Amino acid sequence: MTTEVIANKTFFKNSLIKMAELSEEQRDYWTSLDSNIGDGDHGINLSIGFRGISKEIEELDQTTEDIHSLLKKSGMILLSKVGGASGPLYGSFFIKMGKEVEGKTEVTFPEFVEMLQSGIDAIQARGKAELQDKTMLDALLPGIEYLQAHKNEEDYLTVMEKAIQMMQEGAESTIPLIAKKGRAMRLGERAIGHKDPGAESSWMLLNVFYEEMKKNN
Ligand SMILES: [Mg+2]
Repeated sequence: MTTEVIANKTFFKNSLIKMAELSEEQRDYWTSLDSNIGDGDHGINLSIGFRGISKEIEELDQTTEDIHSLLKKSGMILLSKVGGASGPLYGSFFIKMGKEVEGKTEVTFPEFVEMLQSGIDAIQARGKAELQDKTMLDALLPGIEYLQAHKNEEDYLTVMEKAIQMMQEGAESTIPLIAKKGRAMRLGERAIGHKDPGAESSWMLLNVFYEEMKKNN
């Protein structure tokens, strides 16, 4: 069992700031993916949501005592500001992620993995999607499965790197699929050949956690 603290509240604060920067950088790319098979607002929605968090981040940090309340308040901003399907999904992700470590200001790697697990479970509960439905879960599920299997290994950075790589591959794996959920479902076979925008944004956003972990090492 790894007992080393790998993330504190500042880690999550910094990650949220970086996620906001990433959402600005990738806004047009994510939106273009959504234009292919959806309504073309994915990047716009996420940039609006994370901009909302980043604008309030200092206040959020000062007015919260643990990781749970920071992530909960951030998730609530996503829920209230982000339209489409991604707002409720990412909003619940952060809220449930934090719930896992209520009262804590620091977490170990195995605890961090449990946080992601709870967040991903929340996405699955809300979206009711399965693997290969061409959703963000195609990226998230292979990654979390790997993390669960390897969370107690000493070299958590390598474990995290590999998990993110699997999530990225999971996003790629959505290209040949027909969508079973969301707006892309109506396209039938015309969705084939296009990457799912949520799968792409989700591995890229979780990669921010990996990038922050590397900085702390
Ligand atoms: Mg959309």
